[in-house]
Amino acid sequence: MEAASSDAEDFRFMREALRTAAAAFNEGEVPVGCVIVRDGEIVSRAHNDTNATMNATRHAEFVAIDSLPPSVPTLEGCTLYVTIEPCVMCASALMHLKLSRCVFGAPNAKFGGCGSVFDLPADVDPPAYTCKAGVLGEEAIQLLRAFYVRGNEKAPKPHRRVGNTELPDVIVELAKETESG
Ligand SMILES: [Zn+2]
Repeated sequence: MEAASSDAEDFRFMREALRTAAAAFNEGEVPVGCVIVRDGEIVSRAHNDTNATMNATRHAEFVAIDSLPPSVPTLEGCTLYVTIEPCVMCASALMHLKLSRCVFGAPNAKFGGCGSVFDLPADVDPPAYTCKAGVLGEEAIQLLRAFYVRGNEKAPKPHRRVGNTELPDVIVELAKETESG
């Protein structure tokens, strides 16, 4: 099943994913956020939760999958909007769940499973979900950068402590726009 979409809709839902990532930032989690959309409605939203749970598999995508309502047993017909390209682990899980479409912001050069390191959904026969990259990618990167400048305090070995607790301006502006419109 193909998930219908338009560029304006992709932008709108990616803003929601970024807002969720900004919430992660404020909670001291690696700021990656996602929303799962079916029939134009957000059915699940989540951000990375690896620090609070001390569980390295609690990526935004996995947390969102676990929060799906019972009416959405698989991701068939769904679009996942995530601020950073799914890693190989998540990209694979999304195939098992029959995701139709993935839209991401910035590439994940180290672990990306949707084109950067591997292209898992394209590499099976028939191909799995389709991917679209680069929606609000610069904003997603700025948020991650701000987080790592601050220092990931709860990482096993914090290497830096600079004390930046401010959200990047571009994210603050984006959140305002979403609230007002
Ligand atoms: Zn992942």
